[in-house]
Amino acid sequence: MSSFSLECSNMDDVIQLKTKVEKRLKLYGLRPTKARLRIGMMLLDHPKHLSAEQVYERLLEKGHSISKATVYNTLNAFAEKGLVNQVAVDPSRMYYDSTTNAHHHFFNIDTGQLFDIPSDDLSVENIPRLPENTKIQDLEIVIKIKNK
Ligand SMILES: [Zn+2]
Repeated sequence: MSSFSLECSNMDDVIQLKTKVEKRLKLYGLRPTKARLRIGMMLLDHPKHLSAEQVYERLLEKGHSISKATVYNTLNAFAEKGLVNQVAVDPSRMYYDSTTNAHHHFFNIDTGQLFDIPSDDLSVENIPRLPENTKIQDLEIVIKIKNK
């Protein structure tokens, strides 16, 4: 395959992804601004977990000029509308998870990486009695790990 056709197929992928993200944004009631499209394309092409810092750094690496405030505002808007999940594993930073159905995580405290655990792979027994007049909204477990 020549490099030209390779580039063309990559272009097609980019356009396809952009269309997909645009649809998702509209579906979740978000106007597809330039920043939302860019950040959406980064987060939503494959399941992934990124902090606002990581999103910001990757955009700069790709040569996009964007302010940190815009990245934070965009991610907050995504989370507010349910397009991504917020995962608070590290008190110093929030992670944004493109997988929004219920699942658990391994969090490597040495590398700061989050890995998905499918909800079927982990079962919880003996849930303590809930405080009165409450019900379980969500049960998400974070298993903290470190390198040996
Ligand atoms: Zn996850």
